[in-house]
Amino acid sequence: MAKGKIVYQKSVAVEPNESITAYWFKHYLNPGVGLCGLCGNSGTIDTTATAISAAGVRAGGRFLCICPNGQALRNAGEHLDA
Ligand SMILES: [Zn+2]
Repeated sequence: MAKGKIVYQKSVAVEPNESITAYWFKHYLNPGVGLCGLCGNSGTIDTTATAISAAGVRAGGRFLCICPNGQALRNAGEHLDA
C-alpha cells in the first residue's frame, strides 16, 4: 500500500443467517404483537438478573439477540460487555 494513501473499505451488507432467522421466527417471534419475544426488537438481551442455574450460579449476561435486529447489530460490529 502506498504510504499516505487513503483506502476506503467497501461496505459489505451481511444478510441475516437464514437458519437462525427461521428458528427465531418459529420459536421466538411473538405473533400477537409482531415483535421479538426475546428482546422486544431492541436487538439486545440482558439476563444478568434472571439466568441463574438450579445451583445458584449466575450464568446471565448481556447479549445480542438472535433476531434479525440482533444479527444486524452483530454484523455491524456491535459488541456488548457481558
Ligand atoms: Zn430479538
